[in-house]
Amino acid sequence: MIELKTAEAIDKMAVTGRFVAETLAELSALARPGVNLLDLERRARRRVEERGAVSCYWDYAPSFGRGPFRNVICLSVNDAVLHGRPRHHVLRDGDVLSLDFAVSVDGWVADSAVTVLVGTPRPQDQRLVESTRAALDAGIAAAVPGARIGDVSAAIGAVAASHGYPVNMQFGGHGLGRTMHEDPHVPNKGRPGRGLKLQPGMTLALEPWWSASTDELQVDDDGWTLRFADGSHGAHSEHTIAITEDGARVLTRLER
Ligand code: MG
Ligand code: MG
Repeated sequence: MIELKTAEAIDKMAVTGRFVAETLAELSALARPGVNLLDLERRARRRVEERGAVSCYWDYAPSFGRGPFRNVICLSVNDAVLHGRPRHHVLRDGDVLSLDFAVSVDGWVADSAVTVLVGTPRPQDQRLVESTRAALDAGIAAAVPGARIGDVSAAIGAVAASHGYPVNMQFGGHGLGRTMHEDPHVPNKGRPGRGLKLQPGMTLALEPWWSASTDELQVDDDGWTLRFADGSHGAHSEHTIAITEDGARVLTRLER
């Protein structure tokens, strides 16, 4: 069942979204060569505690992970792209770091991810990261009332296809609100005109992610971190949005 949120609920999700966005901005600025991933986890944990937020990851135990997750942020480096478990790793010049963060404040969840190029970026990594950002923008633009999930998926997937990047269909976007993962699933590629019709009050996390050369993943020994099977670098961009009469409202973007 999909809960249509009231305007008040969406405003509350926007409060959570702002906290998520500020946290990701702060951690992104800290992600420089020489910084340990565990320092970023600690900083995120302190912010969660100070805000009185509830981490959606702590004790998260879905079918695909091993045991409860005991961190508040996912940090995925280079060929790792999703569910990266923070570990002892000192960031190096040229590392590609994806940060994925979801919390609940006053009972309402927001979920967002960014990919940061540490130090001097490689041009091919820059293209990859920009493609997931562009795909996210395209998905947001397509998420208007009356459109269908397939329209959003197709808009995201078209950006990947324009670069020749393959798209994994196992993990994608999702509904969210009172919990982190709710219906519907929003694949990162699809057919226009197919699937559920979008209505004002729906809240979704859109999250394009891919590598330049494969959609095949392997799980690390930690039971969580998902890594591209061919060692290629990954990128991931995610926003939480609300469908409104006027189109999508992005709840996890800081106004400039
Ligand atoms: Mg996320
Ligand atoms: Mg998500």
